[in-house]
Amino acid sequence: MEIAQFCARANILVLLLALFCSPCKFIQSPMGLDPLNFHQNTNTASMDFGRIHFSFPSAILRPKSPADISLLLSFLSGSSFSEVTVAARGAGHSIYGQAQALDGIVIEMDAMPSNIEVHRKGEGEVDVSYVDVSGGALWIELLEESLKHRLAPRSWTDYLYLSIGGTLSIGGISGQAFKYGPQISNVLQLDVVTGKGEVVTCSPTKSSELFYSVLGGLGQFGIITSARILLQEAPEKVKWVRAFYDDVQTFTQDQELLISMPNLVDYVEGFIVLNDQSLNSFTTAFPAHLHFAPEFHSEGRSKVYYCIEYAVHDHSSKDINTDQVVEEVSRQMRNLPSQLYTVEVSYYDFLNRVRMEEMSLRSAGLWEVPHPWLNMFVPKSGISEFIDLLLENISAEEFEGPVLIYPVLRDKWDRNTSMVLPDAADDQVVYIVGMLRSTNQDSCPADCLQNLLQTNLRITGAASDAGAKQYIPHHSSPAGWFSHFGRHWNRFAGRKAQFDPLGILAPGQGIFSRRSVSSS
Ligand code: FAD
Repeated sequence: MEIAQFCARANILVLLLALFCSPCKFIQSPMGLDPLNFHQNTNTASMDFGRIHFSFPSAILRPKSPADISLLLSFLSGSSFSEVTVAARGAGHSIYGQAQALDGIVIEMDAMPSNIEVHRKGEGEVDVSYVDVSGGALWIELLEESLKHRLAPRSWTDYLYLSIGGTLSIGGISGQAFKYGPQISNVLQLDVVTGKGEVVTCSPTKSSELFYSVLGGLGQFGIITSARILLQEAPEKVKWVRAFYDDVQTFTQDQELLISMPNLVDYVEGFIVLNDQSLNSFTTAFPAHLHFAPEFHSEGRSKVYYCIEYAVHDHSSKDINTDQVVEEVSRQMRNLPSQLYTVEVSYYDFLNRVRMEEMSLRSAGLWEVPHPWLNMFVPKSGISEFIDLLLENISAEEFEGPVLIYPVLRDKWDRNTSMVLPDAADDQVVYIVGMLRSTNQDSCPADCLQNLLQTNLRITGAASDAGAKQYIPHHSSPAGWFSHFGRHWNRFAGRKAQFDPLGILAPGQGIFSRRSVSSS
């Protein structure tokens, strides 16, 4: 071992011993090397958006460079006494403690210098527009920077205050996914620190096994410190359309019609309108005056409605009349009479629409509350049964939060990545369903929350038996994970053995156990 390497290891050993044995708040390197920036105020790292799971780590690392992360992981993977685990934390918008590390170390990725470098096609040797962006940066930061170059990523999430590394670890889906695939289908290259502390630049042609492992890999194989993401010309404006339905079959048929027109349509989503609250919550960002007053009770039965939203990009540089496009597309839809609304908004406001919803919920004290969310991929053949199952298990009148439903196309997913879709290979169309429930702690105390979580378990259990898969999966037993990955389990476990053999990374996912060097 070289002297510098030895010093670095000795240094981190002292740090870790001090960290786990003393109540100090901030530990400076005693050996004059770059100090690792450890903190022991671990409150934020023990919590996430879900507000359901709370695991306190022993310390937080605020890294200044990938080298800091590498130093920590090299030490832990070489140390025979240690059983310390490590979780990267992006924006902490997980639901079930996925970015937490009980008694371990949480690496706060937002501490890394935010670097966003945009490269435009045609400049120098560049043959496709792309951006190099740090793993801890937020998608909103990337949007703001790329728009300065009139460029933008092709595939998004609905909410942009999520980190690049956090969404690339799970997939990253929104209404553009039918056209461009999830965010993980739009990555050209990654810089990763593996569980063994190796710093690797990987791509489909270079260290490709690591590249595909990490994409959708639930943080199990390495920590993404930088990503190279495809960009396209950004439109200035968006024509944003919403249409209402009272019949689920027509709703899903029209959604499938829309995704069959990728040359005309740029975004397709949809949601169930369960009650007045769900109708109103979705109009916060959509600046149209709706003259839709649905009857949620009819003939003694409760009734729900459905809303499709689609969007068409408006580029001033392209000679396309977007009003005509919207008219042509909308003419083919079979929504309720006169229940189709079109607005025009800036591209930035369209992509950042959930922020307005967040602000409104924050001001009502309804953002920092428990969120027993459930997200599933359901094959097209099972979507109507799944919607029935959902509606049987929730009380539509009282439900708070959106229930999203929209189709994506299986062939836009790269099967080499770690993410799994339902197996029903004959269904090219797969629906993503997100039951994004908020609970009000006054009306839903702890036992009520537990009941909701039990309901989620019933729904995911029954749906999984019928071939659905959880998105952003959460399983509390090894058997659950085994069944989630199904025929992909051996590949997933093999990748773990290759890149994080001691099971140091992302313990909050609860997939693998930590092992020490001596037990391996
Ligand atoms: P964290 O919660 O910090 O981490 C999530 C997981 O990724 C953890 O296991 C963590 O260890 C790991 N991780 C974090 N950073 C890295 C890294 N740099 N390298 C390796 N592993 C890392 N998802 C969608 O697909 N579409 C949506 O439209 C969407 N909308 C959402 C809206 C809201 C309001 C919320 C709260 C969530 C939404 N999500 C959506 C889910 C979200 O994409 C995931 O929960 C995502 O993982 C959150 O990113 P984060 O940066 O907060 O990750």
